Amino acid sequence: MDTLLDVRDLRKSFSVSPGPLGGKNLELRAVDGVSFTLRKGETLGLVGESGCGKSTTGKLILRLLEADDGQVTFGGQEILGISPRRLRPLRRQMQMIFQDPYSSLNPRMRVGEIVGEPLKIHGLASGTGLKEEVLRLLKTVGLAEQHYERYPHEFSGGQRQRIGIARALAVRPSLIVADEPVSALDLSIQAQVVNLLQDIQEEFGLTYLFIAHDLAVVEHISDRVAVMYLGRIVELADAGDLYRKPLHPYTEALLNSVPVPDPARRDSGPLLKGEVPSPLFPPSGCHFHPRCPYVRDLCATQSPPLEEKGGGRQAACHFSDEVGKHRKHK
Ligand code: SF4
Repeated sequence: MDTLLDVRDLRKSFSVSPGPLGGKNLELRAVDGVSFTLRKGETLGLVGESGCGKSTTGKLILRLLEADDGQVTFGGQEILGISPRRLRPLRRQMQMIFQDPYSSLNPRMRVGEIVGEPLKIHGLASGTGLKEEVLRLLKTVGLAEQHYERYPHEFSGGQRQRIGIARALAVRPSLIVADEPVSALDLSIQAQVVNLLQDIQEEFGLTYLFIAHDLAVVEHISDRVAVMYLGRIVELADAGDLYRKPLHPYTEALLNSVPVPDPARRDSGPLLKGEVPSPLFPPSGCHFHPRCPYVRDLCATQSPPLEEKGGGRQAACHFSDEVGKHRKHK
């Protein structure tokens, strides 16, 4: 499968005020050397707790934020250093779907205008052709003709997300960064929106970077999954392998936190303990060591690189071959 997106050593820090005590500004490394590829037509789930840098990674790729360092190659073209003029046609091919569809939809615009606006901006349709195209897009995402004249506040959360998807689809993108697209929705609606994203992926040949804080959400849509912790990817693998046998203690703990309906199938392996440390003061060595059930002395002093572990899998753990030893069901 061809590579659509190649992300190499992406970095972004923010300067944060130290607060009332004064002193020098602090450096928050939101994205700390992230690398991965996305193949055409696949879905990569990017998962981690809040504040781990996954949404920032998505925004850096689309240049909604400017990276400090690294490379992003889209369709063979490096995009981080290029001018806004050269970026514009590529921007069309890379769209974002947001977590909160309501705040990303202009409340004073009717749905027809919201979905039609990107078509006009990019000169893809006008006049009666524009309306026809918008109606076709509304139908594609499961909305009806009568929704064309309505305002965002007249819709439910799931319907608003459908409007956001129609707007992203309007410019015929090849890559969609979906930033927690179902997190704000009820469980029953989540499944409908995930199904819609899968249907349109097939129909339009889309590639997804699907960002979520929960491994359960991305399980059925992802071909591969990358797990982030405090600005770094700690595990990357085919979804089936990762869910069956995680190689990083953090992935294992996240999986154990996913509710399983049948108590007999509960793993009883280690759960996540404690809170995510502040990214302003990340722990030494392996950032996960204060929460890790497999921790040894080495972990506090040496940061494990993300490295090949065989079978196309990558993990950043000194003792990945021991992961799973606490589990009953393997
Ligand atoms: Fe745990 Fe050590 Fe592996 Fe980090 S390197 S995940 S602390 S065992």
